[in-house]
Order: sequence, then C-alpha cells, then structure tokens
Amino acid sequence: MDAPEKLLSDLVAIPSINPMGRGREGSQYGEGALAEFVAEHLRHASVDVELDDVAPGRPNVMARLDVGARQTLLLEAHLDTVFADRMTIDPFRPVIREGRLYGRGACDTKGSLAAFLHVLCSYAEGIQKPKMNILLLAVADEEYGFTGAKHAVSRGLKADFGIAGEPTQLHIVRAHKGVTRWKIVTHGVAAHSAYPDRGRNAIYTMARVVARLEAHAAALVRNSPHPLLGTPTLSVGVIEGGQTVNIVPDRCMIEVDRRTLPGETDASVLGAATKALDGIENWETVGPHLSIAGMEVSAGSAVVQKLAQAVDDIVGRVAIESAQYATDAGVYNGYGIPTVVFGPGDIARAHTEEEYIEIDQLHDAVRIIERVLQ
Ligand SMILES: [Zn+2]
Repeated sequence: MDAPEKLLSDLVAIPSINPMGRGREGSQYGEGALAEFVAEHLRHASVDVELDDVAPGRPNVMARLDVGARQTLLLEAHLDTVFADRMTIDPFRPVIREGRLYGRGACDTKGSLAAFLHVLCSYAEGIQKPKMNILLLAVADEEYGFTGAKHAVSRGLKADFGIAGEPTQLHIVRAHKGVTRWKIVTHGVAAHSAYPDRGRNAIYTMARVVARLEAHAAALVRNSPHPLLGTPTLSVGVIEGGQTVNIVPDRCMIEVDRRTLPGETDASVLGAATKALDGIENWETVGPHLSIAGMEVSAGSAVVQKLAQAVDDIVGRVAIESAQYATDAGVYNGYGIPTVVFGPGDIARAHTEEEYIEIDQLHDAVRIIERVLQ
C-alpha cells in the first residue's frame, strides 16, 4: 500500500461514531481515540499539535505548519462518522478491492483527512516548503451538531481561505444551503374527553399551526430562486401530542426543518415563521436546537481560482458546483474565512451500508492539495 491509503486504512480501523445525541456509549463512540491517533501521527512528523475538547472525550485536533508565508490555508475535515449498525461489510476492518477502500468513514470523510494529513506531514518531514502556511483542523461532531467547527471558531482561527474536506468527487462546491431546526409546542388545558368544552385541545391548535406552516412553505418555494441553490424549503417532520384518547390533550409538539439560503439567519427564519402564525395563540418556539449557515464563495475568489487551477492540472477537468447538504464550511464562511467544500469520494457512497472510496481519487486529492501549496 502507498502511504495515503495505508494512512486511510489506519483511520478507518479506529471507530469514531458520532453518538448523534442518542446517549450511545462505548469504545466505538466519540472521536477521542481517532484524535489521539491523528495527534500522534503529526507529532511523529515533528508537527506541533493541540487537542481541544469540544465535549468530554470529544476533542478537535489542530496542527500548524508555519513556514513564514504571507497566507495560511485551512485544511479541515471531521473526525466523526455516522452509525455503522446496518453495514453489510465489516465497518472497521478496511479492505481494498478493485481500487476501492471499504469501511465506515472511508469517503465521509476520512479520505479527505488522510489526504490532508499526508500532505502536511510530507511537507513537515521533507525539504520542500509549501508556499502557504498550513492549518490542519480535524473536528468532532460534524454529523450531528457541527459543534466542533463552532468550538474552533469560538477559540479564534486564523486563515486566509479554507477547504472543508467532504466527498465531492474532487468537484469544487462553492455554495450550499444551511439548515435550522426547531420545535413548536402548543399548550392546552386537559379535561375528560366526555367534557371537551372544559378543556382546550392542544392538538387542534397545532393543526392550525401546521396548516399555516404548510402555506408558509409553499410561499417560500415561490420566492425567486438563488441561481445555484434554488429556493429555501420548510418541512414539518415530527409531531407528538396527547396522552390517551379519553383526555383532551394539553400539549402537542412538532419539529421543523428549514433549509436556508446564504444570508438567512436564525432570527430571520424564526421571525418569518412567527409571522406566518399571526393570530394563533398558546404556542411557543423551542430552540433552534440545530443551526448551520448556508454559504457561498464567489467564483472569482482566490480559493476557488487556486483550487480550480490545481484540479485542472491534475485531473484535466474542473467542476464547480453547489450542494444541497450542509457542512462545516458554513461555519468558517460565517466567520470570515472563504472556505469551499472539496475532497475525494462520492457523497452517494457516504452513510451507506457499503461505504467506500476510489483510491485513485485519494491520490489525486493529495496531488491537488500539493499543487495548491506549490
Ligand atoms: Zn461528512
């Protein structure tokens, strides 16, 4: 095996499953063991490295190669993966078959992490210097709360531009939507169902809320579309209410998923939803419990230009596009670091029962990042 796939194989063999807020515990959960491995790999190449807990046992890893250059490139990838419960291959015993490496996280997004680590360590150990300083950031909790990236910017990050590693098949994603999720709770008065007039039915109130939100969602998709991302969307995905059929329910809850365009904020999103519920009483907003901003980096920006040139040099064709999914890049762009999404592997293979990455793409990713830095 060549160095990048050996490294990727080592990364995949260390489970780093995100507990996804479901209280799952055990050696396969959390990013701690993988973070320790990444840190040790960097120390072995004499790179200064720092572990910073986002939550107990769930650290970010940050490493910097300072060559005294004027500009700094942020190379970011997340450490966590989704669950491996339903996989039809052994998730943590990576195998290479027909030019693919199989295992949980192979493409999402340990492939990017392996490429970035490999590039940083080969510069640290080699004679050749990169033309930019490199800031490598491997974060916890991208798959659930984006808290690793948010933690990193709250501690201060200094970089001129960035690449957030995700499986884009080496296409450059310069825009994606964001997502805001919150709950709405309606409050009623419980009563015996034989005397419903003595109570106030929280489900009836929620029915009116849901109908208004449906109309609000329909209005959103009539907005003039963003040229790359289309229109914002809203979906009510969960409803819970009532205890038993012979009690007038005093509480009902829904969970709302709102996909946002760059520039929309939690305040503007919740403000518009509140306005849509004008005149309805006895409800409240809880949250948001998840919020990640959308992002757009202009086509002419330095990071898009440099990366496009490097991709063209190495693979001979460049795709610059947008994505519907949200990533940590939303956090860095919101913080003022123009950051695109880019990496080896195919998002269609991410989170699947047979996740894999094409090894050729891993190698191309290494060469492309090196080219950016030369
Ligand atoms: Zn990912």
